[in-house]
Amino acid sequence: MPEILSRILVFILGSCVGSFLNVCIHRLPKDISIIKPRSFCPHCKQMIRWYDNIPILSYLILKGKCRACNAAISLRYPFVELVTAVIFLVLYAHFGLCWNLIKYLFFFCFLIVVSFIDIDYHAIPAYLCFVAIAVGLFFDIRATIVYLKAGMPLDFKFLPIFRAFRALLFGLGFTYLFKLFGDIFINIYLALRKKESIEGEKESLGLGDVDFMGVVGIFLGIKAVIFVFFLAPFFALLYSVVAMVFKKSHLIPYLPYLSLASVAMFFWGNHIVRFIGIVF
Ligand SMILES: [Zn+2]
Repeated sequence: MPEILSRILVFILGSCVGSFLNVCIHRLPKDISIIKPRSFCPHCKQMIRWYDNIPILSYLILKGKCRACNAAISLRYPFVELVTAVIFLVLYAHFGLCWNLIKYLFFFCFLIVVSFIDIDYHAIPAYLCFVAIAVGLFFDIRATIVYLKAGMPLDFKFLPIFRAFRALLFGLGFTYLFKLFGDIFINIYLALRKKESIEGEKESLGLGDVDFMGVVGIFLGIKAVIFVFFLAPFFALLYSVVAMVFKKSHLIPYLPYLSLASVAMFFWGNHIVRFIGIVF
């Protein structure tokens, strides 16, 4: 198949998956099945016809409005579809057709879903990270079998499954430790100032953030855990400035920034590590 044709197909497939991710983002936190019922307009509950449900295009054709009731459709739907399609295209160019492509497509889709759910709810269903950890381990078990079949030395610190487990525990432990210290610090601070926290927050990091870093460990490795952890605040800082200017809530969802930092580490990890090595 000509390369341009396969890229177009990958892009279309990505936009369809993005459409499915929208359903996940919308329904998982509410415990609604992601298979049934078919998509409907949240405003008038009218079933959306297949030709009004084409990723990206339908939004443009309908000019962002429901055909039945004219209610505005959130720009987030085509945005998620477009971002997913671009990610499919970029990862396909990066890996070609192989197991790693599927592994990291899953990881990036996971990042999109938890980021948007966190933006809406400031929390994510705990099982999402456990599912991601299970999927990650599946790919590492597969890689371990391939490794052993190739007759590589049976040194267990080179075994993919061992490395994955080590990175998983490191991701969880490292982040949990920071959460503990952060919580202690916040509580001492609030006690000393004798005041209640403004929006009731007494936690530095949520447990969702801790689980999330376990997923980062499995998919990106130990080094990435440390860098993602310290890189994310820089992304969050940008938002905080905006929030301060527009007086929005200062309770910021943190998973989008951990996700952005993960994406940065995936694509530019070596450069980032080298750059920091030069600075310090
Ligand atoms: Zn409607």
